Amino acid sequence: MYTAIGYAAQSATAPLAPMTFNRRSPRPDDVAIEILYCGVCHSDIHQARNEWGIAVYPLMPGHEIVGKVTEVGANVSKHKVGDLVGVGCMVDSCRHCEACAADLEQYCLEGPTLTYATPDRIDGSNTMGGYSNSIVVSEHFVVRIPEKLDLAAAAPILCAGITTYSPLKHYGVKAGDKVGVLGMGGLGHMGIKFAKAMGAEVTLFTRSASKAEEARRQGADHVIVSTDAEQMKAAAGHFDFLLDTIPVQHDLNPYLETLRFDGVHILVGLIEPIDPAVHAANLVMKRRVLAGSLIGGIAETQEVLDFCAEHDISCDIEMLDIKNINQAYERMIAGDVKYRFVIDMATLKA
Ligand code: NDP
Ligand code: ZN
Repeated sequence: MYTAIGYAAQSATAPLAPMTFNRRSPRPDDVAIEILYCGVCHSDIHQARNEWGIAVYPLMPGHEIVGKVTEVGANVSKHKVGDLVGVGCMVDSCRHCEACAADLEQYCLEGPTLTYATPDRIDGSNTMGGYSNSIVVSEHFVVRIPEKLDLAAAAPILCAGITTYSPLKHYGVKAGDKVGVLGMGGLGHMGIKFAKAMGAEVTLFTRSASKAEEARRQGADHVIVSTDAEQMKAAAGHFDFLLDTIPVQHDLNPYLETLRFDGVHILVGLIEPIDPAVHAANLVMKRRVLAGSLIGGIAETQEVLDFCAEHDISCDIEMLDIKNINQAYERMIAGDVKYRFVIDMATLKA
């Protein structure tokens, strides 16, 4: 067993605080990793505060993990000691169902084991995430970080990157398509870069007019201020795809109206009931599709890392001292981060 340290929440109302705990010794197919960097996803906040009602405490968030392999189990063949690797939102799945067989472990029919706050499939212990100095994960769920990528800036690709890349790919976004990205935070800024790299004409929908210039720097061709009813109306019937990263309940109807017929509105940000209700006419009358998407499988996570290396795509990050994690959460809720906090795990030792 390893003695590990990290930051965890002890309840839905407690701030994150240091905690010492045990990580298992590697099983035959496990890789032990010294964590160097971990991105801070809005899901970490939802979970630490039990906003989805599924939290288990102590809860140690973190699923945008980059680190170095320190030990491997006897049967490991994919990684070796010293390799630079990543771990995203999942650490296990049943590995034999239809979804797992199709490299879609995130849709495992038995439910994937998430990187934190999920029972381990073998010993039942509560998984602990990447706000920590180490992690032990089955090799199948560990990906390789391409040499070309900056390690800290690569961390958010493990969740924000794959979550936005996967649906754009699945729905076949191609050159000339008109794609709208809703919200420019961690996911949204990556969504802009990917849609642009796929050749689309990209528009950011934002509440913050002040983000317009930044959005253009990320690759957006146009910006619509979503709180301006006139601007929303002027975009009626325009888009092929909307990638919706907004993390709270919001009215989808004005956005649906900006889709052309056969347009697709893809939800990735909301994991709650849609409220206010969607008017079915906004779908039926134009054969529009309202869809959802969850992260991406392990093979596709490797694919998006390689895609980023090939297309020189990286996340815009602010390095974070782990001692400031609670203030960072408040800044994220206020939309005040450009555009992903990444914890420098060296600050955990200090
Ligand atoms: P961030 O906080 O980094 O960004 C969210 C953005 O949404 C903000 O920057 C803001 O953009 C916009 N926004 C925030 N609050 C509101 C509001 N009240 N009304 C309208 N827009 C708002 O979050 P992330 O990008 O990390 O995550 C986004 C969501 O995606 C979270 O709910 C997260 O849990 C979820 N998620 C889902 C995954 C999946 O697999 N489906 C995987 C990972 C995350 P602006 O200022 O431009 O308006
Ligand atoms: Zn995430």
